[in-house]
Amino acid sequence: MEVVISLKNISKIYDNKIRALDNVSLEVKAGETIGLLGPNGAGKTTLMRIIAGQLQPSSGEGIVLSKNLRELLRSEERFKLSYVPQENIFWPNLSVEENLWMMGAMYKIPKKELRDRIKKLLEEYELWEVRKRLARKLSGGMQKRLSIVMGLINDPEILILDEPTTGLDPAMRASVIGLLEKLNSLGKTILISSHIVEDIERLCERVVIMDRGRIIADAQPMELKIKITGREVLEVLFNEIDKEVLEKLGRIAEERGMARAGYKIIIKGDDLIALSNEIRNDKALYENVITLSIRKSTLEDVFLFLTGRLIGG
Ligand code: ADP
Repeated sequence: MEVVISLKNISKIYDNKIRALDNVSLEVKAGETIGLLGPNGAGKTTLMRIIAGQLQPSSGEGIVLSKNLRELLRSEERFKLSYVPQENIFWPNLSVEENLWMMGAMYKIPKKELRDRIKKLLEEYELWEVRKRLARKLSGGMQKRLSIVMGLINDPEILILDEPTTGLDPAMRASVIGLLEKLNSLGKTILISSHIVEDIERLCERVVIMDRGRIIADAQPMELKIKITGREVLEVLFNEIDKEVLEKLGRIAEERGMARAGYKIIIKGDDLIALSNEIRNDKALYENVITLSIRKSTLEDVFLFLTGRLIGG
């Protein structure tokens, strides 16, 4: 597969002091759907804006769609890439349809072609019913859908979506996820950033985990889990964790590997059933337990074991 994004040792320093990206290298092949996962401030937006040519790196080199990062925004190739920022992009006082017409005009798409394309997009992404409604009058989920569809008007080869599912209620989020799943089947190259683990697991075949401006893992979600946490973990929620509890758990867990997130302890390794029974059988320890479960591991566990912190802070 053709490499469409290739970054080498990219760093970005804001205001001579904030190192938002620290030596990031990344290769993306045509048709991949990649999730950029990491806590707020990890550098995801900065990386995406650099790939989109909107921001120049402080150092390092990159090629996007065969153009050097420094020339991307001045080349025709820029039309083959869409960047949808976290905040909605549309004219609030124009209707859904008018917004798409405006966007299409900016890309200089011939009128007839644009008419067909708008109709197809509106139907395909379930905005046809609301096409006459002012953008500002749409629900939050619909507004996000419109923002993403605006990014499709140029039929881009690369679509970059910054936190498309953040700040939406569960129903709205599901409707945006539905749209993203549909997009996945088109075979475009898609980069999605998020700090919501389930969304990345659901949508992306490859996950790039970022923390403090660095890429700390890059693989298929399942591959990462098998390597870092195993397929399953034991999660124990305590109402209190003191030194004694930690020491006891350490002894019981032995060399399995244990991580703490607030009142939660996650233990990975073999024979978690025997381990959970040991905890149950220790009366003093079990008294402090609120819940205890063996469950499938998640990318949140992966992040916790890699950094000692949770993605959500
Ligand atoms: P993320 O998208 O993962 O939340 P960002 O790329 O937005 O991360 O931010 C990375 C770091 O760079 C953060 O510490 C943030 O405060 C800082 N930062 C981002 N944009 C700017 C800017 N324009 N000026 C100064 N600092 C910035």
